Amino acid sequence: MTRALVLGSTVLIGVSTIALSALQAPAPAPSAAALAATRIEKVKDNLYVITGSSPVPRETFSGGNVGVFITEKGVVVVDTKLANWGPAILERIKSVTTKPVVTIINTHTHGDHTGSNEFFAGATVESVVHENTKTNMARMDAFKGDKAKFLPTRTYKDKLTLGSGKDQIDLYHFGAGHTNGDTFIVYTALRTLHAGDMFPWKDAPFIDRSNGGSGRAWPDTIKRLLDGVKNVDTVIGGHQPVAGWKDLATFQRFLADLYAHASAAQKAGKTVDQAVADKTWMGKYAGYDSTRLQAAVQAIYDELSGK
Ligand SMILES: [Zn+2]
Repeated sequence: MTRALVLGSTVLIGVSTIALSALQAPAPAPSAAALAATRIEKVKDNLYVITGSSPVPRETFSGGNVGVFITEKGVVVVDTKLANWGPAILERIKSVTTKPVVTIINTHTHGDHTGSNEFFAGATVESVVHENTKTNMARMDAFKGDKAKFLPTRTYKDKLTLGSGKDQIDLYHFGAGHTNGDTFIVYTALRTLHAGDMFPWKDAPFIDRSNGGSGRAWPDTIKRLLDGVKNVDTVIGGHQPVAGWKDLATFQRFLADLYAHASAAQKAGKTVDQAVADKTWMGKYAGYDSTRLQAAVQAIYDELSGK
């Protein structure tokens, strides 16, 4: 249905239904600007990324980076952007392979990483997430009622290996961070990690406490990854260009410093605004923004005060 038709019928039905129809309205179709910003790029050999975008500005937002790993048996897709992006994702995949999609992995529950799971779901597609993420997804409207059939078909707790040889993928959960169910995906033969929103951008992260996220745990969780997983040099983050292992190590230190700064400020009786205003600790993080600092510091304050 076109936008004009939707608007017209809404007016005819009456004002009282507008609020309800807005709540029930399907997610918007991808905009031309967002489609143009969504390219498939080679990472290494048989691994590609379909570029994501930052949630701001909204007009070009498509959701997170999508991993496209072409194995002997078919294509493994990591994350599925916002709702209604399935056809565009598939079109990008078809530009690099004729193989079918056989596996979906979601790094975590958020709708900009699971939004088009429904498009790919089917009897021949296995979908895999951390067990906490399946629980979180089951609470989303996109996976309730009739749509529960689109929930992931397989879960794991600490580590899961899929495939073997050059097709091997290791999935790891090292603890809470962005949510309580984030998965790190390692393409072992390609020395590449898909980190999702555990490494979203070079700025303070979104700590989603409503899905079990933790600003206190996050740096330790990434430390366990850095210490426990070897032979990785390339990292696909949630909403940023492909980066390196050293960039992830820098982000881990940034998170540890963010937490130390926020918790010290709270202990000293400073307000969130005062804690945010003091950015001296950020001096050593060249290229980092502070546009999301306020929300992150607030989340850490809330976590420390048991809210
Ligand atoms: Zn997220």
